[in-house]
Amino acid sequence: MTRRTALAIFGAWRAAAAQKRIAIRGMYSHPKAFWDRGAKLDDYGVTALFVHGGSITAELLARAGAEGARVFAEFATLNGKGYVEKHPEAWPVNERGERAPAATWFLGACPTEPGFRALRMKQLEELLERRAVAGVWLDYFHWHAQFEDPHPILPETCFCESCLAAFAARTGVRAPQGETAMRARWILERHERAWRRWRVDVLLDWAREAKAVVRRVRPSALLGVYHCPWTDEEFGGARERILGLDLKQLAGVADVLSPMVYHGRMERKAEWVGDFVAWLSRRVGKRCRIWPIVQAQSEPREITADEFERVLRLGGGGGATGVMMFTAQSVAADGAKMDAMRRVYGEWGSR
Ligand SMILES: [Zn+2]
Repeated sequence: MTRRTALAIFGAWRAAAAQKRIAIRGMYSHPKAFWDRGAKLDDYGVTALFVHGGSITAELLARAGAEGARVFAEFATLNGKGYVEKHPEAWPVNERGERAPAATWFLGACPTEPGFRALRMKQLEELLERRAVAGVWLDYFHWHAQFEDPHPILPETCFCESCLAAFAARTGVRAPQGETAMRARWILERHERAWRRWRVDVLLDWAREAKAVVRRVRPSALLGVYHCPWTDEEFGGARERILGLDLKQLAGVADVLSPMVYHGRMERKAEWVGDFVAWLSRRVGKRCRIWPIVQAQSEPREITADEFERVLRLGGGGGATGVMMFTAQSVAADGAKMDAMRRVYGEWGSR
């Protein structure tokens, strides 16, 4: 191929990419502040709302529908705060055999504790039965850790009796009897690979069960996952090693992946949003859809309207076919961000 032909092909591809249609033009969080301004979803090109499951009412569904938007439910999955205090058997146990402390504001729950798992699946089923949502997005979908801060907290968990028994049952690797700290050390020193693989499988199993619930109760609804936006290499492979997320395999279960590309909170440049979406698109191929969630909220530093517009556009790049922002409220509070969203969503909607 001559250089000229290559350039022509690249130019055509780039033009096609720029023209691509982004069907899911979303807002994350309850749209009350947006509506309180007198704004209408269809005037801003918004086609999808992502709202905490507990805040979805019949009125919300009716008004969103009348303004041309579908409603997806956020479903907090492996967060343990408020639960593990009353059910200490679900408190994640670290490699010292102690209850893992909260990782800044987040405290996970043990994903193999049967009572906790049964409760979450029941809550998921009830949510789908009660509300005609277009899909459910699993949130806090990882083993206990904190990845949303610039300096992540990445503890080794969970070495509770339930996990050690489940690991032994699945892999045949049985830690010697004795103190938890010794058993944890024995596993990490001698069977680290099997241990980390098993932890990934535990989460895939949760995703499969959640998908089965969705398909059974509301077959038209989609299953999405909000997840940590790290490549395979970052932080020593911690996304898979500590959080337990194999994105390629997860993409084979979930209908949609929503990487949480919060550039301001994670102290990254705006360009990183585009880089990560491109990386994820290559990594998962056509296995599932990609609808990133970008940052609009000025926390912990100011996100200007220009910067918000930039990450919104970058979020819709690569193989993404949808995008949303954290949060609708932050956009509604700033007239310039409202204008930016209308401009970008208007362009995408008119194609
Ligand atoms: Zn456990």
